[in-house]
Amino acid sequence: MKTIFKSFKFRIYPGKEQEILLAKHFGACRFVFNHYLNKRKETYLEDKKSLNYYDNANDLTQFKKDENFNWLKEINSQSLQSSLRNLDTAYGKFFRKQTKFPRFKSKYDRQSFKIPQFVSIENNKLIIPKFKGGIKINLHREIEGSVCFATISKSTTGNYFVSLTCEVQYQPYDKTGSEVGIDTGIKDLAILSDGTTYENIKTLKKNLKKVKFNQRKLSKKIKDSSSRNKQKQKLSIVHEKITNVRKDYLHKVSTEIVKNHDIISVEDLSVKNIMKNHKLAQAMSDVSLGTFYTMLEYKCDWNEKQFVKIDRFFPSSKMCSGCGWINQDLTLKDREWACTSCGEKHDRDFNASKNILKQGLKILSGSGIESDTKQKQVEALSLDESMKPETHQSLADV
Ligand SMILES: [Zn+2]
Repeated sequence: MKTIFKSFKFRIYPGKEQEILLAKHFGACRFVFNHYLNKRKETYLEDKKSLNYYDNANDLTQFKKDENFNWLKEINSQSLQSSLRNLDTAYGKFFRKQTKFPRFKSKYDRQSFKIPQFVSIENNKLIIPKFKGGIKINLHREIEGSVCFATISKSTTGNYFVSLTCEVQYQPYDKTGSEVGIDTGIKDLAILSDGTTYENIKTLKKNLKKVKFNQRKLSKKIKDSSSRNKQKQKLSIVHEKITNVRKDYLHKVSTEIVKNHDIISVEDLSVKNIMKNHKLAQAMSDVSLGTFYTMLEYKCDWNEKQFVKIDRFFPSSKMCSGCGWINQDLTLKDREWACTSCGEKHDRDFNASKNILKQGLKILSGSGIESDTKQKQVEALSLDESMKPETHQSLADV
């Protein structure tokens, strides 16, 4: 048995007054995040000094004594502190070159705040600090393990949810001795080096039509009109439905792969590429891939299997998996090709997945070319050295 963290999401139904207090929590946590993001930026520009979580947390304690910011006392102070933690994590990720520089949070984004402690369920109610009597919750499935912390969110459709993260005793899958490389595409979600393919779900295509139809309708509505808001809701509901169908499918596929293989090698996705893509179908498939990889990664972790990401500049499609020759003339249209050097015939994606596996195994054995992520870690470490030891500490436990 192994201890893992698992999240369970439920819809909650706050009363009128609770809705107001929730809005205050969303707002205050956003305010704290933005205030200290600004402060960190300014301090750096003025004195070339980097503030860390502890600097911010001490400052926040003083700040709350200011009469003008009395309203912050209404808010669970641990939620405000976790906003500072989020900011610190965002900085850490930026320094490790995993994300862009943290940006200010807007009230138009999805709203959320964290409750790090004192969360429980009693009589179909969610019990959290500052909310007397608890919030009504729809427990549509059983919670496993013990609740550690909670995140409350409000969707763009105006519904409230709580995600409960629990410590669960888990029995990992058996070892199979198998290794696999995965290539991804638009038509197929995953092409495995053992010959298995998982196609993208067809329902997505049908729903894409609905999204386009509703989007077109929305664009014709007058700004701020009630019919526009209604249309916006409709569009959000279609999006929510797609997300759920897609998630279920990705769960099914990722579980199967982790169950069948001990080593799983994939290509690192470029965040920049995701942002650049404007085509709807492509954008959605990219979002799916991100979720898919996240699922594979944490399920590998739960089941003590190895997950490895290879450099996205590695020529997985162009290289012959038989002899290593590189086909410089390969274009996106070429689905099949023959190696000029050894004569082997290749299916484009299948060949790529074989190369992805080979490269992944090289990285795991330490004989591969320095992977992209390793390089990032090296760069991040040299940045850390210029910071205070406390920052170093907080980066390590992120
Ligand atoms: Zn060859």
